[in-house]
Amino acid sequence: MNLILFGPPAAGKGTQAKRLVDGKNMVQLSTGDMLRAAIASGSDLGQRVSGIMQRGELVSDEIVIELIEGRLPEAEAAGGAIFDGFPRTLAQAEALDAMLAGRGAKIDLVVRLKVDDEALKTRIAGRFAESGRPDDNPESFVIRLNAYNTQTAPLLPYYQAQGKLVEVDGMGAVAAVAAGIDAAMSPT
Ligand code: AMP
Repeated sequence: MNLILFGPPAAGKGTQAKRLVDGKNMVQLSTGDMLRAAIASGSDLGQRVSGIMQRGELVSDEIVIELIEGRLPEAEAAGGAIFDGFPRTLAQAEALDAMLAGRGAKIDLVVRLKVDDEALKTRIAGRFAESGRPDDNPESFVIRLNAYNTQTAPLLPYYQAQGKLVEVDGMGAVAAVAAGIDAAMSPT
């Protein structure tokens, strides 16, 4: 199964993706993690994206599409991908559909984690205090939320039209959200 975990920054996508990796035979494909790894390694790519990420803006479609494309064989071998933080623009969504179609695969399900903006701000403040992730600072977070609302949320009708969109309440405890995702993945 190929699943997209969809939602604003700090909605819990990464936490839930990791749980699915542990519980099911799937690979987490987080473009944010891939970009942070590139920055940590000091590569050319890392140097190109580090300022953009720190400000909370989106990096170019070409960069993230290429990162994802390189990881599709691994996900295929494992029995499925959990896309976490990708796609974030319509161009990325269309490229993903095309890449998967070229491999005889498709997106099976898009789970939207719904969390209200106030709760996101509280979570981000906690995460910033804990991990010091540079783009969790309040100024960058406003830009990230704005990028979500203007560039990423418009993907919801795209997946809705394909009949793939399921909404899960992301406000509860991790286990409750996990149960909601499990139910969406295996409807009775
Ligand atoms: P995340 O860890 O998913 O919150 O991503 C952290 C940052 O990485 C984002 O604020 C963007 O700067 C960049 N990024 C991650 N994924 C993407 C993507 N699919 N498209 C554009 N930029 C991305």
